[in-house]
Amino acid sequence: MITLKKKHLGPYCSFCPPKTTRAVYTDEHRHSTFACEDHKQDLIKEESKTRHTEERMTEADYQTWGASS
Ligand SMILES: [Zn+2]
Repeated sequence: MITLKKKHLGPYCSFCPPKTTRAVYTDEHRHSTFACEDHKQDLIKEESKTRHTEERMTEADYQTWGASS
């Protein structure tokens, strides 16, 4: 999770109703999920889910590669 700098402020929180609250934080991987101060914990949860998914995909890719070579 990274804190948005003032010059980056603009996106809305992904967890609040659309276009109500400006985000303060974003996920450090894809910068595709945003959170306000109230939803910081939701973003952290979302981030750890993403991390697990990516780990699984990496493992599957590795197995595919291993089988074909
Ligand atoms: Zn929010």
